[in-house]
Amino acid sequence: MNGSNLRGIGMTSDRTRTRLVQRLQEEGIRNTMVLAVMAGVPRHIFVDEGIAHRAYEDTALPIGRGQTISQPFIVAKMTEILLDAGPLKNVLEIGTGCGYQTAVLAQLVEQVYTIERIDELQQQAQARLSALQLDNIEYRHGDGFQGWKEKGPFDGIIVTAAPLAIPPALVAQLADGGRLVVPVGQANGSQNLMLIEKRGDQLQSAIMDKVRFVPLQPGPTE
Ligand code: SAH
Repeated sequence: MNGSNLRGIGMTSDRTRTRLVQRLQEEGIRNTMVLAVMAGVPRHIFVDEGIAHRAYEDTALPIGRGQTISQPFIVAKMTEILLDAGPLKNVLEIGTGCGYQTAVLAQLVEQVYTIERIDELQQQAQARLSALQLDNIEYRHGDGFQGWKEKGPFDGIIVTAAPLAIPPALVAQLADGGRLVVPVGQANGSQNLMLIEKRGDQLQSAIMDKVRFVPLQPGPTE
């Protein structure tokens, strides 16, 4: 990945990216730090060259292996919800995918831990994130349903694929005051974007939006 590819030209230029961020703002994203970070992340390097010209449309796009890169509005929205109660030290992400959400998070929190079940996707994501010199990320090829106990408890957990019910291990790995953002529901049906907050041994939950994610599937695979 060379410098000019990272910066982008034409349909992948800075200007195109600025227009996307303006649109996110018009659609209701308020967190200026999230908007500023998204204005700087070259989304076009997270998809195949053949569809790079569509990278700054506000849509999900295929990334291979039946998976998708999330719609920018949803990435912005989930990140904004996660950060809403103040700065976060350590965040666990389930579903690295192409690594775009990881790139946004890594510039807003101190340390990101990210788990992906498809090894091939995680290797590609890791190469992109290293090219962007994002070094505060630890990767695990594994099963996100289990979380990453040794690295917890976490101030924030973000899940970018939908389970049918909230995985108990993730709730258990939330720090006191921690926040879990997770889409819950049938694959490819309408899912609820949930926010779970832990206070002492109390949990509060709220539905934040309707979303559509690929399913959270058990077990790691190549
Ligand atoms: N975060 C990505 C979206 C990835 S799509 C972005 O920024 O666009 C969801 C990802 O979750 C897929 O790559 C899929 O392989 C992964 N996934 C599904 N079930 C998983 C599980 N149990 N553990 C870890 N990753 C999982």
